[in-house]
Amino acid sequence: MCTGTYLQTTRGFSVSEFSKYRLTEIRGMAPDVNVYRFEPLEGEVPDYRPGHFAFLHLLDEQGNTVVKRPYSIASSPDMPYLEFCIKLVGGELTGRLEKLEQGGVVGIGRPGGHMTYGEEERSGFIAGGTGISPIISMLRHIAAQGKKGDFIFFYSARRKENILYHEELKRLQQKNPSIRVLVTLTREERQWGGLTGRLCKVIIEKYAENAGQYRWYLCGPTGMIKAMKNCLVELGTGPSSIRMEGWG
Ligand SMILES: Cc1cc2nc3c(=O)[nH]c(=O)nc-3n(C[C@H](O)[C@H](O)[C@H](O)COP(=O)(O)OP(=O)(O)OC[C@H]3O[C@@H](n4cnc5c(N)ncnc54)[C@H](O)[C@@H]3O)c2cc1C
Repeated sequence: MCTGTYLQTTRGFSVSEFSKYRLTEIRGMAPDVNVYRFEPLEGEVPDYRPGHFAFLHLLDEQGNTVVKRPYSIASSPDMPYLEFCIKLVGGELTGRLEKLEQGGVVGIGRPGGHMTYGEEERSGFIAGGTGISPIISMLRHIAAQGKKGDFIFFYSARRKENILYHEELKRLQQKNPSIRVLVTLTREERQWGGLTGRLCKVIIEKYAENAGQYRWYLCGPTGMIKAMKNCLVELGTGPSSIRMEGWG
């Protein structure tokens, strides 16, 4: 599905073109996950919608692409930079990214993709791991716009230390009471008063009554989001009300 999504969503815009950006901030967010902020060398951040992704290009000394990969944009369109939340897996791109220092220059392609937030007032979000990237962009946008409605986010992480954007998720709920966040940990954790175990139909049904009436956005490991899609369909959600993106 990852490849299919990738081909489908990159159709219509060139994946080899990019603009140059400077790495302005690196923040460790979990043992193997960093948040990177980039600002354009010239002009402003391009227009994009919450949920879009863009190709990150690592460049050689001549400014040519060495390796590129797509990443969901975690910032929201009102922010003056592009933020990505990236799991460091020691691969072609992430192995090199780990060595990039603040001030380094990269290329970033034009944002695009199909899993964009449609401004619905009743939306459900489900993510696992770095699948939170496009979802946090949507939640930041919802909070910044002061949108009223029912926005519920189910987030699955391994342990407490793996919860990405944990403090910000708390702040977003305080800022906008229409946002509810439910985190479930899949590994045992002492002193965790919240949900444990894998996300399942029972949990979704309990917290998102009439799940079929929500527009759903799913992002994370491919196996997880396929399973979540099946749960939502069993709960009466039409497949056309489910948008999803998977990787890893
Ligand atoms: C639309 C889209 C959006 C994406 N957004 C994000 C994002 O916001 N954050 C993010 O971290 N990634 C995201 N990815 C995945 C990203 O594009 C890369 O595939 C990933 O960073 C690995 O690239 P690499 O070159 O370092 O590894 P590669 O050299 O391509 O692969 C090295 C090894 O790592 C494994 N691997 C790849 N990804 C993972 C993973 N997540 N966990 C464990 N093992 C893995 C591969 O199977 C392979 O064995 C997205 C992918 C798509 C299609």
